[in-house]
Amino acid sequence: MPSTPAAAARQILIRLQEVMASRTSAQAKLNKVVEVIGESLSSEVCSIYLVREGVLELFATRGLKQEAVHVTRMAMGEGLVGLIATNVETLNLDEAASHPDFAYRPETGEELFHSFAGVPIVRRERAIGVLCVQHADPRKYEEVEIEALQTVAMVMSELIANAELADDGQAELRVTDTGTTLLHGLQLVMGMARGHVVFHQPRVHIEHTVAEDTEAERARVISAFAKMREQIDRMTGAAEFGMEGEHQEVLETYKMFAYDEGWTRRINEAIDSGLTAEAAIERVQQRTRMRMRQIDDPLLSDRMHDLEDLANRLLRIVSGQLGTAAQMGLRQDAILIARNLGPAELLEYDRRRLKGVILEEGSLTAHVTIVARAMGVPVLGRVRDIRHLVNEGDLILMDVNANSLLIRPTADMDEAFENKLHVTQKRRAEFVAMRDLPSVTADGQRVELMVNAGLREDAQALDMVGADGIGLFRTEFQFLVSATLPQREKQQRLYKDVLDAAGDRPVIFRTVDIGGDKALPYMQREDDEHEDNPAMGWRALRLALDRDGLMKAQARALLEAAAGKILYVMFPMVSEPWEYEEARALVEHQREWLLARKKKLPIAVRYGAMLEVPALAEVLDILLPRVDFLSIGTNDLTQFLFAADRAHPKLAERYDWLSIAILRFLDRVARTCQAHDVPVGVCGEMGGRTLEAMALIGLGIRRLSITPASVGPVKAMIRAIDASEVQALMRELLDSGERNIRARLTQWAAERHIELG
Ligand code: PEP
Ligand code: MG
Repeated sequence: MPSTPAAAARQILIRLQEVMASRTSAQAKLNKVVEVIGESLSSEVCSIYLVREGVLELFATRGLKQEAVHVTRMAMGEGLVGLIATNVETLNLDEAASHPDFAYRPETGEELFHSFAGVPIVRRERAIGVLCVQHADPRKYEEVEIEALQTVAMVMSELIANAELADDGQAELRVTDTGTTLLHGLQLVMGMARGHVVFHQPRVHIEHTVAEDTEAERARVISAFAKMREQIDRMTGAAEFGMEGEHQEVLETYKMFAYDEGWTRRINEAIDSGLTAEAAIERVQQRTRMRMRQIDDPLLSDRMHDLEDLANRLLRIVSGQLGTAAQMGLRQDAILIARNLGPAELLEYDRRRLKGVILEEGSLTAHVTIVARAMGVPVLGRVRDIRHLVNEGDLILMDVNANSLLIRPTADMDEAFENKLHVTQKRRAEFVAMRDLPSVTADGQRVELMVNAGLREDAQALDMVGADGIGLFRTEFQFLVSATLPQREKQQRLYKDVLDAAGDRPVIFRTVDIGGDKALPYMQREDDEHEDNPAMGWRALRLALDRDGLMKAQARALLEAAAGKILYVMFPMVSEPWEYEEARALVEHQREWLLARKKKLPIAVRYGAMLEVPALAEVLDILLPRVDFLSIGTNDLTQFLFAADRAHPKLAERYDWLSIAILRFLDRVARTCQAHDVPVGVCGEMGGRTLEAMALIGLGIRRLSITPASVGPVKAMIRAIDASEVQALMRELLDSGERNIRARLTQWAAERHIELG
């Protein structure tokens, strides 16, 4: 046996290649394979077990009794072989019989052998078989031999898959015996969906594992590494806007791995053992996975995800299988699986086929969640390890309302789901029937219900749900979906279409809010300065005032689009009154410019500010006399009040919108606005949740701009409550400093049979 793992594996692979190229049956090849491996590792026994119908079956052996072939069968988890397959891990024992899981099978005659080493044959991260060697002397196999065995197992998986000998990853091996799994997560966008798994970043299929020209494979890896590093560096450089959902921290780790010499070296060694570049990357990854599985540390497992992402990226580069699932197009009803997504990435998907999204990360107010809500796509977040628990194409039933995710459901479950879906649709139909009923409380108080929008098609939702207008049109969505900066004419066309669809109802256009987690890849900043806290950085109005060319073009587009109508303009992230003044002056200047050129103009322009930076609340007495309306953006506001990043997955559930600090803050703002006679509304996600909306009405808020899907449930709640009663209750809770306002409000509603669903 040669002394290095690479040389040892290479020697076996050369011989195996001949076997695999021979024109014999798959069974004959397997018989030959066990001979070659047994001889090379000087092992009396070499056996191959493959998973067939969910059970491990002895397919070929050298050394054990031939009568046992196709007769000895072990369940997953049974005996040493079953253990290796279930845990997808290697076993190396000097005395097999003394292992607690050892299961003796008399027909094999294995009592003669003491030492045992087995490795899983893996495909799509699951064991499709086990390759093992046994020896009469009680000795542990050496590291070199184990490495060689693992490399051989990798090549074997190609032979087995091509010959369709084993269940090809479809049989559920790692999750449960039946294949059906129930998971939970964090409810990000409510709704139900049925569809088939599509990975946002598809897994690469490795077609060839044994190299013909090792030098060429080496060169391929070197060039792939160079490309990958270039990509990572570019991503880090473009991180000014928060990197489309990938956190800075992740990027740093990516960078560390991408430049890790140990990783490159291990891949090169795997190539030396005779593997192709793709197989070598996968081989190293498998080894790392096995090692990591033994360490139970959530931090390390997060890092492992990073490395997996990167290895996948490297694989895609080297194999030329580029692109996300969106770029390849969805072929059927799809449930998208990703670690995390950027808002722009999500918008690339075909809305008709994209039924749901499942993320390993995600938070309630991250922009990708808001975009998904706008698209009407249910999202479940924080589903740990989902990318490794499903296969491409698996059927998934997701019911975010019930916080449940069924993977590979049985026919009964599928039927029950369809029934439930039907009931939900009926309830939705009831909301639709309420569309033309006024949004008025039982004691006659009118609450304006508007919708949040950002895409051209969203305007149609106005009629569908019966809303009073668009209370927040996020103009940056158009910027996010474009490959280049949208020209003024294009902006104008969009605004005009939206205004036309809205008819007489108001549309409040918010000027671009880019930055934070809304990255524009085509917009580079002048300096290379990187931002540690993009959400608190150069974004929204700050950026727009500095880059006033962008703002001027947008102002003109808005003014011209609203010719003959009332134009409502709102500025995001106003921190001090002068910023608002400057922004307003800029729009006014454009209006005068157009007026001088006798262009048709809006009949009036109404200006508003968003209150999302807490500091602004301290200067409302200065600001309010200058604005026509105020809109509270609770998404950003709460992140700044609690100093808790709205996109941070670990903080996603930490603070409650119904906490006393937020409610007291909002109460004070609402009262100040009333004193100044300035209309105030809430346009953050908070207002779309029925219980929260009830609390806001209790604070005197009479305008909510919410996601279209929430209009029905919120309107039903409004029509059921007595506003003055809620107001008295909120006063009591705020004054007494009640700790669990959520529980008290829920109870209050339940006692009055007010539906909050
Ligand atoms: C907010 O911050 O609450 C808001 C409505 O704006 P966005 O979510 O687009 O930042
Ligand atoms: Mg905001």
